[in-house]
Amino acid sequence: MKIQILTIFPDVCRSVFSESILKRAQEKNLASLEAVDLRRWTNDRHRTVDDAPYGGGPGMVMKIEPIDLALSDIRSPLSKVILLTPQGRKFSDPIARELAKEPDLIFLCGHYEGIDQRVADHLVDDEISIGDYVLTSGVLPALVVTDAVVRLIPGVLGDEQSAQQDSFSSGILDHPHYTRPAEYKGWKAPEILLGGNHAAIEKWRHEAALEATQKRRPDLLAR
Ligand code: SAM
Repeated sequence: MKIQILTIFPDVCRSVFSESILKRAQEKNLASLEAVDLRRWTNDRHRTVDDAPYGGGPGMVMKIEPIDLALSDIRSPLSKVILLTPQGRKFSDPIARELAKEPDLIFLCGHYEGIDQRVADHLVDDEISIGDYVLTSGVLPALVVTDAVVRLIPGVLGDEQSAQQDSFSSGILDHPHYTRPAEYKGWKAPEILLGGNHAAIEKWRHEAALEATQKRRPDLLAR
């Protein structure tokens, strides 16, 4: 899978790409991750990507031209171009799984007041929001989506089971996890996890996952 993040903050992406699971996915040649600097497609001295909004009002708006030129250069017939915007469909585990099947993703990040509406209307295939709040730029949302998608690519995680037991993958939350010491400040890890009865441990974990879901996210059980 190839992922390109088109942004005015490429260095933020590069630092995240060089750690942990994203780094490992690239080393195993399971994902190619690239931060693409939108300012490469400007030709004025200040490398301008924004302008004042038509109609007046506060802030600046990202211009369509550098984005159109950039996409013309970096997109392929297989590319799916996704705009990160608080107005998009809300990101979730099913959407991450849908995107993990795509061979070529381009995440387009806004900044300032947003992007000229003609970009969403004519140049992108999808719009995604990471939640009902507003961030300063699309670069963090693009990295959130990238991380969630890449860890679903088969072979990326050390242990395939860990993605299967993660919260949401089977519709409920993950079970609680414990590690040494067995007792800390009088707080004990569940006795059953310390023995070697795998069937009993599996049963405990399933029930604990259901209990956590019932307590924290009853909406998931209702679904
Ligand atoms: N004026 C816009 C609005 O209210 O819909 C918000 C612009 S925001 C300050 C700047 C950029 O950050 C957006 O263009 C988008 O790329 C990104 N962004 C902010 N919040 C986001 C969210 N919840 N999900 C995805 N992208 C977001």
